[in-house]
Amino acid sequence: MPEQLVKINREFQEKSTLKRAKEISMPYIDIAKTPLNPDFLRLISFEDAKKSRVIPFLKISKKVHVAVDDSENPETKAVIEKLKADGFEVSVSLASSTGIDEAINFFDTTEKYKKIQIVESVEEKSIKTYEKEISALSDLPAKLEQVPAEEAINLLNIGAMKTNASDVHYEPFENQTDVRFRIDGVLHKVFSIKSDVYEKLAEQIKYQGGMRLNVKTVPQDGRYTFVFNNRKIAVRTSTIPTPYGESFVCRYLPSDQKSLTFEELGFQGEALKKLMDASKISQGMVLVTGPTGSGKSTTLYSIINLMNNGKNKIITLEDPVEYYIIGATQSQIDERHGYTFASGLRSILRHDPDIVMIGEIRDLETAETSSQAALTGHVLLSTLHTNSAIETIPRLINIGLPPFMIAPALNTIIAQRLVRKVCTKCSTFEAITESEKTEFTNTMQIIKDSGVNVSFLVPEKMPKVHGCEACSSTGYNGRIVIAEAITINNEIKDLILNKASLEALVSAARKEGMITMYEDGLMKVAQGLTTLEEVHRVTNL
Ligand SMILES: [Zn+2]
Repeated sequence: MPEQLVKINREFQEKSTLKRAKEISMPYIDIAKTPLNPDFLRLISFEDAKKSRVIPFLKISKKVHVAVDDSENPETKAVIEKLKADGFEVSVSLASSTGIDEAINFFDTTEKYKKIQIVESVEEKSIKTYEKEISALSDLPAKLEQVPAEEAINLLNIGAMKTNASDVHYEPFENQTDVRFRIDGVLHKVFSIKSDVYEKLAEQIKYQGGMRLNVKTVPQDGRYTFVFNNRKIAVRTSTIPTPYGESFVCRYLPSDQKSLTFEELGFQGEALKKLMDASKISQGMVLVTGPTGSGKSTTLYSIINLMNNGKNKIITLEDPVEYYIIGATQSQIDERHGYTFASGLRSILRHDPDIVMIGEIRDLETAETSSQAALTGHVLLSTLHTNSAIETIPRLINIGLPPFMIAPALNTIIAQRLVRKVCTKCSTFEAITESEKTEFTNTMQIIKDSGVNVSFLVPEKMPKVHGCEACSSTGYNGRIVIAEAITINNEIKDLILNKASLEALVSAARKEGMITMYEDGLMKVAQGLTTLEEVHRVTNL
């Protein structure tokens, strides 16, 4: 039947049902247009619903509203009596037969993907059991095969929480699906699961995340929450199609993330001082740069936290909002509806803010509006993707921002990476090798030659990682930043206006006290906080 005819036919059915309801003095319901809640549906079993064609669609305390297409049907009457016997007051509405068919189909689907018992509703006792059961992550694949998919998700969530994973990746291949946890920024393959187990699990994740189950060929995003040890955790789920099925990444976002101080984040010395100064400005632009996952937004949130004194109006424009800041107006960009960084920023500025945080500067329009804001009495905080702090200047010029706008607007640039902290439970200190010693000595010489007044001792021993239960056998636990910071003083402003070379900019920044990220990293190795391998890894050496 052509679509148009189906529609007309459906409308006709609903109209005649309405007419019949009036004749027999029954309330009418267009059940196909009524949102159905699986919890209400399950007041009766699916088998009963199919036989009796009774659809519970609303429940307010002890009163249940049901839809039926034939109130005289004995099976229908029996199920209604059963509900009454269970102590419910039942209100019966008449619906079209097609509507009831559709509702039964929906019921069938929700039964297949039964709503996951999220940890919130799992008894404390069973959480403890789960916790015990997955004391070793390697036990998980076997467990996952034994339990229904909704419990499998619980196990994986708890596994992620226990290992402090920020993301869980599901990567399907021909014969198995690899599950990898991102812990302290690094991916670890934890186990593989069989394809058929994964298939059920994937459907559960989609169902839980509110994604369309029948759509498998386009990327989708979803979200769900659960509670673990009194902490509410939001899970952002996203899928992309692959030749062997859908690949998932689930990101775990604790909603109670407290804002950390600069020291807690790992800022020290010159960078810490500059960051503190930047948090006191009343106008100008502060930019934090680095690749994705380098902790830029955490640093921005900490700056805002210091500026958030109740006297300033703070507005943010983010993609997405990651943490909630009490006292700030936070908004999220929506590219599909034209709410971009550039257009959003213009709207925000009409709201008379003192401090604006904008997720990222990636085009000329945003860069222009941002610097105008910084030049007209606002504090503007944002991020940029550049390798080093100084490269921010040529990057802004490349985007198309004229030097006469950059120079007066810019106040501070911070570039950062995250290195993993050695696990204090299992790391040991071992004698430094000759080549390591050379690396330290050379670096110290470079710092000295550049005129920066900082020195540190070449350590005799350095931390070596091993791995224990406390660190999920990774050898590391938590992360700290390594950073470099530049305050844009008058000399640097002049250099920007004169389109000076990168070398000239670097030497001016050095004169002003800049320690590079790599050098900052080495100092943290000397303090026993991280390893040389970590510093090399994140600074691409
Ligand atoms: Zn350890």
